[in-house]
Amino acid sequence: MRKKTLILYLLLLVAPTLLIGVMAMSWIRREDERLRMLGEQAIQEQASIKAGNLDLLLREITDALLEARARIAPQDVDALYRWRARHPMVRNVFEWSPETLLRVPDTRWPDIEEQTFVQRYEALFSGRRAWPETSVETQDPPPPPRPPMPVARQARMEAAQRHQAAETPVRGPRQPDASGWLPWFWEHDIHLLGWIRTDDGATIRGVELELLAVLARFQPFFAPDSDRRIVYALSDHHGAIVMRTDNDHDPLHTASPAGSPQPVSELLPNWHVHALDLGPRTGAGVSFVMLAGMLTATLVIAILSGGALLLWQGYRDTRDAARKTSFVSNVSHELKTPLTTLRMYAEMLLQNRVPTEQKRQAYVETIANESARLTRLVNNVLDFSRLEQGRKTYRHERINVTDITRATIAAHADRFQSAGIRLECRVQKIPVSITGDRDALEQVLLNLLDNALKYAPAGGEVTVTLVETPTHVTITVADRGPGVAREHRERIFESFYRVDDSLTTQVPGSGLGLSIGRRLIRDLGGDLLYRPRDGGGSVFEMQWPKETIDD
Ligand code: ADP
Repeated sequence: MRKKTLILYLLLLVAPTLLIGVMAMSWIRREDERLRMLGEQAIQEQASIKAGNLDLLLREITDALLEARARIAPQDVDALYRWRARHPMVRNVFEWSPETLLRVPDTRWPDIEEQTFVQRYEALFSGRRAWPETSVETQDPPPPPRPPMPVARQARMEAAQRHQAAETPVRGPRQPDASGWLPWFWEHDIHLLGWIRTDDGATIRGVELELLAVLARFQPFFAPDSDRRIVYALSDHHGAIVMRTDNDHDPLHTASPAGSPQPVSELLPNWHVHALDLGPRTGAGVSFVMLAGMLTATLVIAILSGGALLLWQGYRDTRDAARKTSFVSNVSHELKTPLTTLRMYAEMLLQNRVPTEQKRQAYVETIANESARLTRLVNNVLDFSRLEQGRKTYRHERINVTDITRATIAAHADRFQSAGIRLECRVQKIPVSITGDRDALEQVLLNLLDNALKYAPAGGEVTVTLVETPTHVTITVADRGPGVAREHRERIFESFYRVDDSLTTQVPGSGLGLSIGRRLIRDLGGDLLYRPRDGGGSVFEMQWPKETIDD
């Protein structure tokens, strides 16, 4: 029956709950992966927008510079130098033609900056290398293709270009090869040279960009962000980080890249914007998967333990119901036997059918004993119901344990004698006092003596001992009966519990004596315990620690 119930429990509760748990966990994992991907996409998009904004800014600066450079009249060298001195974005200016080569700067009296400038572009200025034909020409192989440009950014760029074209009538409609910028790598550094070919194509007029000033304009795009887990960084053509949003960390070493690096501009080949994920900060809390996993596990455990608890409760209820049924039949049996005896002897006495005075005496004694037994049984049942309902009250008074024990033994010695059991009393006549309830103590002692009488076979011996040690007062009732098997030793103190062996089933009983005994003694601050007796039999031990006694 129990096996069937267990299988049913497994099938109806454990299997579906575990299935739900496993499905929930796999769904959570998938969801977490999806969220991670979405997050990564958003970060990559941010990096792409940043790269686009840098490109836009750089083109605005370079277009404006070329426009301003074109406005300066070719012969007005002074105006050109003034412009160079005033404009923070201008590093150097030049005018070059294939015939005269460099007219500006004047190579006869160059300053140091002009000297290095001329040196830097020596290949172009000497005519060894042809000037570019297209607006942007790179020295290096062209950078990898740009990712698709966000629509908004493209629209902004187109608008800016239209605006630019409208505002620069001096240059007329822009020729694709009339001007442009040349990224120039020299001594590991990048330089940007802007050039304008005059209409006749004979002269090249130009400007070199002050890249440090441009970088200063880039700085706001890398201001520290509120989400400090994501770091955006700008790397140059060597892959070295030039600026980044978080200065606390060295991101390239500590963080994992979120998505691929985004190229910045054709004017800055191999410069990239990186998005780096520093991951959750230590102590920043548990991840989504962990949290959801913990919740799922809690739910699964709660369902399983709730189910197990209900199952256990159901099992206990069934067991208690069965025990109560057997209790009712046991008690009825216990009541019926003495009642039959009482009626039989009482009728014989009434009808004067007793032949001798000796027999009459024996009948009266039996009537007295049986009615005393009935009283004890009824007392036990009444006490049980009072204890169950919490109505049991005790007197807390100083009682003499020695007297009570000796008196109880004396009152019941005859019963033991007629059963052929020697009742030994090892109680010194020294008074031992405790605070407690006299009736309760008497009742427990009686229950133990009754049990010894019931379960110890004829011819044995029962010993009652009272011992006072510095720490405890102990009364033991020891018999030479069958003892209690290990697995029943605690359970015999449960209500209605009876060891189901041949001896117990032959002996009438309610299964209440020991459970009531333990509850009464515990309520009085002590305990009732079982231990096997050396050489066979049982020892039931009532004990009170001294401190509760002295209270
Ligand atoms: P009852 O004796 O009415 O069945 P108890 O609560 O007094 O109920 O005892 C519970 C069970 O403990 C008994 O049914 C019996 O199996 C076992 N038991 C109690 N006293 C002894 C003893 N002295 N020797 C062996 N078994 C005992």
